[in-house]
Amino acid sequence: MRSRGLQQIGDVGQVTDLALLFPPKAESEYSPTNSFQKIYMKSLSLQITEIYSSIQGESSFAGLPCAFVRLTGCDLRCTYCDSAYAFSGGKRVPLEEILCQIQSLNCPLVEITGGEPLLQKNVLPLMKTLCDTGKTVLIETSGAHDISKIDPRVTRIMDLKCPSSDESHRNLFSNLAHLKSNDEVKFVIGSREDFEWARDQLHRHALNHKVRCILFSPTFLTAPSPSQTKGHPGLNPKILAEWILEEKLPVRFQLQIHKFIWEPTRRSV
Ligand code: SF4
Repeated sequence: MRSRGLQQIGDVGQVTDLALLFPPKAESEYSPTNSFQKIYMKSLSLQITEIYSSIQGESSFAGLPCAFVRLTGCDLRCTYCDSAYAFSGGKRVPLEEILCQIQSLNCPLVEITGGEPLLQKNVLPLMKTLCDTGKTVLIETSGAHDISKIDPRVTRIMDLKCPSSDESHRNLFSNLAHLKSNDEVKFVIGSREDFEWARDQLHRHALNHKVRCILFSPTFLTAPSPSQTKGHPGLNPKILAEWILEEKLPVRFQLQIHKFIWEPTRRSV
């Protein structure tokens, strides 16, 4: 099922009217309404690698200013991972402080990312509170963990891991039943085998009828992260674009635009 009111191109399910995709919302400052709520938010915490604002580099929100909350820890080791620095370390931060830091970035769009944010259960009340304050909230997840408990107002950008990630055995296909019309599914494609696998999943599960858009993203040249990830030679974006055009797939080609604005290995962008 598709979102009502979204203007789309033919049958590809792609949004052309950004104002509809990213509607103005009445935002309210995060301010706990009673002492119980205040104590509750202080008592919960998350292991955080970084909180910062940048240009959203991916998804149908690409190009928009966005506040990012990067949670620490991931149980996958994708060959092309560019966030291995978030596998460990970080700092324990109370939810109340995280909310105050996000508010201080003064950005209506917030993305929760990692690592794998769903490894920490307190991410669920964080996202709910952000939605309550009027933020547009995105979560990027590997697709290896249950997405059904996430607040339905959140846009889930869920990976389906292709073979060259070395983690495709971790895809939790039961998640497909929980996808909504404002979610997005992302395939990071590093080879012809990946492309054909992604195309087959798209058709088999009619993914373009389930979610707002299907993202096909070429892998970026990634150096190995010592003893953590293998690295990946990358795929020429032009090759992926031509494969998509040859087969007229109803997908959105995307590049990680923050890697073109700044140095590809730069953090906090
Ligand atoms: S899911 Fe893969 S790409 Fe994402 S943080 Fe974990 S290892 Fe890296």
